Amino acid sequence: MKHESTKNSDETLEKLLVPEKLEHCFECGICTASCPVAKLIFKHYNPRMLLQTVSKDLETAITEAQPWLCAWCDRCYKRCPQGLNLPQIFLLTRNIAAERGYVNKFSEALEIIGREIPFAGVCSLICFNRVNDPTAIKAIERYVADYELKKKEKTIPISKKRREKIAVIGSGPAGLMAAYELAKKGYPVTVFESLPEPGGMLRAGIPEFRLPRKVLNTEIERIKSLGVEIRTNVTVGKNLTINGLLKDDYKAVFIATGAPKSRKLRIKGEKLKGIMHAIDLLREVNMEKKVKLGNRIAVIGGGNVAIDAARAVLRLGAKEVTIMYRRSREEMPANSWEVKHGEKEGVKIQFLVAPKKILGKNGRLVAVECVRMELGEPDESGRRRPIPIENSEFTIQLDTLILAIGESPDPSFLPKGIEVTRQKTITVDPITLETSLPEIFAGGDVVSGPATVMEAIVAGRKAAFAIDNYLTSRGA
Ligand SMILES: Cc1cc2nc3c(=O)[nH]c(=O)nc-3n(C[C@H](O)[C@H](O)[C@H](O)COP(=O)(O)OP(=O)(O)OC[C@H]3O[C@@H](n4cnc5c(N)ncnc54)[C@H](O)[C@@H]3O)c2cc1C
Ligand code: SF4
Ligand code: SF4
Repeated sequence: MKHESTKNSDETLEKLLVPEKLEHCFECGICTASCPVAKLIFKHYNPRMLLQTVSKDLETAITEAQPWLCAWCDRCYKRCPQGLNLPQIFLLTRNIAAERGYVNKFSEALEIIGREIPFAGVCSLICFNRVNDPTAIKAIERYVADYELKKKEKTIPISKKRREKIAVIGSGPAGLMAAYELAKKGYPVTVFESLPEPGGMLRAGIPEFRLPRKVLNTEIERIKSLGVEIRTNVTVGKNLTINGLLKDDYKAVFIATGAPKSRKLRIKGEKLKGIMHAIDLLREVNMEKKVKLGNRIAVIGGGNVAIDAARAVLRLGAKEVTIMYRRSREEMPANSWEVKHGEKEGVKIQFLVAPKKILGKNGRLVAVECVRMELGEPDESGRRRPIPIENSEFTIQLDTLILAIGESPDPSFLPKGIEVTRQKTITVDPITLETSLPEIFAGGDVVSGPATVMEAIVAGRKAAFAIDNYLTSRGA
C-alpha cells in the first residue's frame, strides 16, 4: 500500500501533468535553452526530456538523478509558451522519489554537479534539496566531509601557467566561480571584496540556518587551494579604482558586485528611526553584529529576502513578526518551502496588504497605516496587478519595520564610459559579457538584477571562458 503522503504527491503531480496541456508541449526546447543547470551539465540534465520521462514513465524518472538537479530558478516556467510549471513538477517527482526510498539519487546528483563547480554543497542546500529529507542532508554532510579528507590530494587539474593577471571585483558566487575557472586555466587571479569575509550574499544575505558556514568555508577553501588570492576589506571605488587596476597591469577585470542596494518604498515617514532594510539587517546578523529590534515587527515584501529576514528576527527573540505582501500567496516570489518553514516557526503573513503611510512620534516609528488590495489584470511581470480597495485603511502598531521590496546594483564606483540601464544594471554583450569598455567584463546580479545562486554561477563560468578567449585571441 502507498504511504499516505506519497498518494498526495502523486495526485498533485497528476493534476499538474494535465494530459491536454502536455500534448501542447510542442518541444520547442525553450525550457532547456533557458536552463542554467542544463548549461552547466548538458550531458546530464535536460528539462524538456525530463518532463517527457516524468509524464510518460514516472517509475523510471524517480530512479534517476535528473529530478534532483533542478535549481528552482523558474526561468523555464517564465518562458514556456504553454505555461508548464516544470520546477513544481520536478519537485513533486523528487518528493515521490524520496518517499519511495530513492533519495540516494540525490548523492549522485551531488557528485555530477561537484565535477563541474566548486559549490556543490552550497547548491545542494540552497538550490537542490527541496525535499528537506534527512537522508539528503546527511548526503551533503558526507560530501563535504569527503572533500575535507581528500583535499590534500590535488585532484583539480590546472592548465599551463599564464602570465596575465586578472582582477575579479566581488566574491559572491559569480566572482568566485569566475576566479575558480580562470585559476584552472592557469591565470593569476585576485578577488577584491569589500566585506571582511568572502562569499557575497551566500554569507552576508542567506542566514546560517539555511546555509551552514562550514559548507561555504570548505568550498571557498577549495577555490583558494588553486592559488586564487582573495583580498577582503577592499572596496573598489574607495580603496582602489578599476582604472588603477588596469594601470597596475591587470589584463582583464570581471565586475561581479551583485545587487546590494535596497529599493525604497517612497512613502511618507520612510526616514523614521525603527525602519531597516532587510539586506542591511541580514548582513549585520550574519556578521554577528548586535542588532537592536523591538517586539512587534513587520516585514514588507514577498521574496526570499523577506522570509529570511522574518525568520532571522524570530531567532533574535522578536515576539511578533508579520510579513505584509501586496499580492496573494500564489504570486509570492519566495520559495514555497521557505514560506512554509517560516509559517511553521511562527511568522504570520498578511496577504493583499500594502503600506500607505508610516506614522512616527519624536522621530521614531510607532505604527504603519496600510490599505487592503485586490488583484486586477496581469502587469508586465505576468502577475496580477494589486489595486488598493477604497476606504479599507487600517493601522498596525509597530516597533520595527523591515523593508524587503527588492534590490538593485550600485553603479557608483564604475569608471566613466561603462553603460548602465535605467535599473542600474551593467549593459554587457550577452555572449562575451564584455561591457562598453575594453578589458572590462561583468556578470551575475550586477548584470541580471537580483536573480539566483545558480544563475550567478553560470555567469561566472561564462565570464571565465570569455576572458580566456579574449586574452588568448589577443596573444596578450
Ligand atoms: C537574503 C537572501 C536570500 C537569498 N536566497 C536565495 C535562494 O534561496 N536561492 C537562490 O538561488 N538565490 C538566493 N538569493 C540570491 C543570491 O544570493 C544572489 O542571486 C547571488 O548571490 C548573486 O551572486 P553575485 O555573485 O552576482 O553577487 P553577490 O552574491 O551579491 O556578491 C557580490 C559581492 O561583491 C561585493 N562588492 C560589492 N561592491 C563592491 C566593491 N565596490 N568593491 C569590492 N567588493 C564589492 C559584495 O560585498 C559581495 O560580497 C538570496 C539573496 C538574498 C540577499
Ligand atoms: S518550453 Fe514548454 S512547450 Fe517548450 S519544450 Fe519546454 S515544456 Fe514544452
Ligand atoms: S527551474 Fe530553472 S533549473 Fe529548474 S528546470 Fe527550470 S530553468 Fe532549469
